[in-house]
Amino acid sequence: MNTLTISKRTMIWPNILFFTATTLVALIGAPLYIARFGFHPFTIGMTVFYLFATSMSITVGYHRLFSHVTYKANPILQFLFLFFGAAAYEQSALCWSSQHRTHHLYVDTDQDPYSIKKGFFYAHIGWLLFWSHPEHYENSTDLQKNRLVMHQHKYYHLWAAVSGIVLPMLIGYTFGDLPGAFVFPVCVRLFLVHQTTFCINSICHTIGKATYDIYSTAKDHWLVALITNGEGYHNFHHHFPSDYRNGVRWYQWDPSKWFIAILAKGGLTWDLKKVSVFRILAARLAAENQRAEDCLKNRNIPNLTTIQTRLKSQYEKLKQTLSDWEGSAREYQAVLRERLERHSEKRRQAALKRMEAQRRFRETLNQWKLIYLKLVAG
Ligand SMILES: [Zn+2]
Ligand SMILES: [Zn+2]
Repeated sequence: MNTLTISKRTMIWPNILFFTATTLVALIGAPLYIARFGFHPFTIGMTVFYLFATSMSITVGYHRLFSHVTYKANPILQFLFLFFGAAAYEQSALCWSSQHRTHHLYVDTDQDPYSIKKGFFYAHIGWLLFWSHPEHYENSTDLQKNRLVMHQHKYYHLWAAVSGIVLPMLIGYTFGDLPGAFVFPVCVRLFLVHQTTFCINSICHTIGKATYDIYSTAKDHWLVALITNGEGYHNFHHHFPSDYRNGVRWYQWDPSKWFIAILAKGGLTWDLKKVSVFRILAARLAAENQRAEDCLKNRNIPNLTTIQTRLKSQYEKLKQTLSDWEGSAREYQAVLRERLERHSEKRRQAALKRMEAQRRFRETLNQWKLIYLKLVAG
C-alpha cells in the first residue's frame, strides 16, 4: 500500500484550539451569557438562519452536489453553498469532497480518512484533531475545473472568516449585540453544525439499520437524519451514492432532498439523479435474503437443507416477479409516451399487464415473508 495515501498521527493544533474554543463558549459561555444578559431576539433569529444556511450548504452543497454530483446547480446557488459551506469551518469544498470520495471508495480501510475501524472517537472528531491526511485531489479533477470551487479552496481561510465570523458579527454589531453575535451565530452554531455532521461518520457507522447492505458499517439511523437534514440514512447512501436522496421512504426525514427538489421547480437545480424504485426494492430484498441465509447457517435444526432450498427457490421466484413487474412498468411508460387517448385499448392493456405483474410480485413477496418469518425470525 502506498504510504503517501495513509493518514499519520500528529497533533493538529489549529483544529484542537478551534474546536476547544467553540465547544467551551457553546457549553459554558452561552449559558452564562443568557443568565447575565438574556436573549436578543434578532441574535436568535440570525443563529437559526446561520444554522440552516451552513448545515444545508454542507449536506445539499458539499455532500450531494460537490462530492457526489447527484444533481446540477445554478452558479449563484453554487456560490451560496461555497460561501455558507466555508462558514461551517469543515475545510474547503474541494478538500471535503476529495476526502469524502476517498471515504466511499476505501470505506473501513486504512485509506478511509474517517474509518470507523479506528474507533468511534477517531471517526467522530479524532481524525481532525490528532491525524494529518494526505492532500491530493486526483479523485476530484471535475471540481478542479470549477473556478468558484478553486477560488474557495485557494482563499479558504478568507472565505471562512468572512462568512463564518466577520459577517455575523458585523450584523450583530449593527443591531447592537456584538458579544451575542460572537456567542450564538458564531460559536454555538459552529459547535452544533460540527457535532451533528460528525455523528454521520461515528453514529451512522456504528448503530442503526442495515437496510440495503447488511455487511456495510454504514447504517440508517432516523435520529441522526433528524439532526443532519436527512443524512442519517447512511446505509442507503453508501449503497446508492449517486442518488440525490438519502431518505427514500415517504416517512423518512430528508429536508436536503426536499430543498433540492423545490429548487428544481424554480429551475435552480436540474438533472436530479434517482435510482429506480425497482433497484431499491431489489437491494432491500437481497439484503433480507442474505440476512435469512446467514441466520440459517448458524441454526441446528432438522431439514436445514430443505429449508435453505425452499428459501432460495422462493427468493429466485421473487426476483423474477420483480423483474417482470419492472418490465411491464417500463412498457406502460413507453405506451404513455405515445400520447394515446386516455381510454385507448393499448393503454388499457399495458396498465392491466403492469397491475397484474405487481399483484404477482406482492403475492410472491407474501409467500416469501411467511417462510422468512416462520423459519428465520421465529
Ligand atoms: Zn460513510
Ligand atoms: Zn457520501
